[in-house]
Amino acid sequence: MENYDVIIVGGGPAGATLARLLPPQLRVLLLCDDRRDKPCGGLLAPDAQKALARFDLTLPKELLVDPQIFAVRTIDLVSRQQRYYQRMYLNVDRAKFDRWLLSMASSHAEIRHVRCRSVERREGGGFLVAFPGAGGSLETVSAPLLVGADGADSLVRRSLFGPARTRRYTAIQQWFPLAEGNPFYSCVFDPATSPCCSWSICKDDFFIFGGAFPPRGSRAAFEAQKKRLADFLRMDLGRPVKTEACQVLRPSRPASFCLGDGGAYLIGEAAGLISPSSLEGISSALSSAAALAASLERSRPLAAYRRATRRLRWRLLAKNLKCPFMYNPLLRRLVLKSGLTSISVREQRG
Ligand SMILES: Cc1cc2nc3c(=O)[nH]c(=O)nc-3n(C[C@H](O)[C@H](O)[C@H](O)COP(=O)(O)OP(=O)(O)OC[C@H]3O[C@@H](n4cnc5c(N)ncnc54)[C@H](O)[C@@H]3O)c2cc1C
Repeated sequence: MENYDVIIVGGGPAGATLARLLPPQLRVLLLCDDRRDKPCGGLLAPDAQKALARFDLTLPKELLVDPQIFAVRTIDLVSRQQRYYQRMYLNVDRAKFDRWLLSMASSHAEIRHVRCRSVERREGGGFLVAFPGAGGSLETVSAPLLVGADGADSLVRRSLFGPARTRRYTAIQQWFPLAEGNPFYSCVFDPATSPCCSWSICKDDFFIFGGAFPPRGSRAAFEAQKKRLADFLRMDLGRPVKTEACQVLRPSRPASFCLGDGGAYLIGEAAGLISPSSLEGISSALSSAAALAASLERSRPLAAYRRATRRLRWRLLAKNLKCPFMYNPLLRRLVLKSGLTSISVREQRG
């Protein structure tokens, strides 16, 4: 059986960043199931841009998609109000972004493009990790340190620490061929179909509509909301060319986060680190990976990791204070009516 110093499960922004930042003398194995692209808006918020700046990384222009955006159109489908707010996001191709981060990790870690099947604590310490090997049979490897960077539905978290103790939604996104009249970025609220939010965004030749819905009946709620949005916009979205779905978390209290214990650590969304207001999670994935990489060099890594992520965790919880103004229908109606911090947009003529 092969032994490693560290095994990382998941090669998204969190796992790829951790692998890149670990000391080169460590023998690192990164398991990444990349058969399907991560469903995502692919917007790099200012916090994610700052995290990349801290790594002294610049973004190759091939990762950008058309168009770049300056405002979000916020739509309330129940009150039929809408406002525009300035946003400073970068619109990127999420699959290319992940591959770019992973390519920088390849000289630091052995990368296997497989789905991890099981993880377990080993008697006497360390971990056993199983995944499909060369001939299709299960291969088992071991390491004293295990990191779950495997996203919202983390196998590492479920296997070692139980189910996520936080609100969980099913995010569904559909891609449509771009038609005239739909290149805009919107944030959609529709309490008739979801207590969370939805969005639309254009990427090169595609228009994407997606949203987060309570797991039970999520597909029906998505379809109902899509129809309500199309009616509101008086727009025919056409036939989708791709439908994708995954789980998304919304932390609401300190127990929503799980950083790990006993030699197993969680980073990124596996640890519950995502904004409960905007569902922005790339910045937390990058910064928690950097925090763990630095903490593993300390004598008490878990305590150091807790300290290093304390501000991040409080900042994410503090975003819950903003939520009533976004998600409570009455307060949202008042905010939209007041026009506070909104910008007025002159529609283009003909
Ligand atoms: C629909 C949607 C839209 C979003 N839009 C945005 C946005 O515009 N901007 C933003 O900042 N955030 C956005 N987020 C949040 C953001 O996508 C996540 O918070 C972020 O990707 C978390 O990064 P991560 O590396 O922790 O996990 P992930 O990006 O989920 O990466 C986990 C990786 O692990 C792999 N994996 C999972 N299980 C296994 C396994 N058993 N074995 C091997 N590999 C495994 C997965 O295939 C994946 O490659 C969005 C989320 C959703 C659901």
